[in-house]
Amino acid sequence: MSSTMGKIKIIKGDITTLACDAIVNAANSSLLGGGGVDGAIHYAAGPELLAECRTLHGCRTGEAKITKGYKLPSRFVIHTVGPVYFEHTPVEAEEFLTSCYENSLNLAKENGLKTIAFPLISAGVYGYPQKDAIKVAVETMKSHQNDFDEITLVLFGVREFGIAEDDYPEFVEN
Ligand code: ADP
Repeated sequence: MSSTMGKIKIIKGDITTLACDAIVNAANSSLLGGGGVDGAIHYAAGPELLAECRTLHGCRTGEAKITKGYKLPSRFVIHTVGPVYFEHTPVEAEEFLTSCYENSLNLAKENGLKTIAFPLISAGVYGYPQKDAIKVAVETMKSHQNDFDEITLVLFGVREFGIAEDDYPEFVEN
């Protein structure tokens, strides 16, 4: 591995507590808040985040938009909209999910950001199988590794963390 390559990490925890250049939000297309990680991010960032989100006029599936982080320890939030798994064929769903990671990483790069953390997009209410979602996340992160100092995948549940320990032990940090 070349020394210019950034580090990929998989950790268990709450993404709202991380101090990175940007954390990624698994938002819905309205960008006006929801449950799961979206609710947690808005709660921790405070009402100014929602006010900025209102100016963005939503976001399409697979695309990404950036805001400030407000009360979060992270400077920015990149909002991306994952596919609802059962609204697509598995192939389409994978393309959309890959686009979420790609577009978020490209937006971070355009803004000169070097450390970024992702939740497991679409793998909660949107129903994407966790093992497959982790694979899409890690493969996309690997392909952008050279552009960042650190890319972190933050897993919230024991079950998905266990899958990552089995499938990607080289990236897991306990
Ligand atoms: P989606 O609608 O894209 O499925 P969810 O928020 O329902 O989004 O779930 C996405 C993932 O985020 C799930 O794996 C869920 O366990 C996880 N999650 C929920 N809260 C947090 C949090 N505070 N930090 C990190 N991950 C979280």
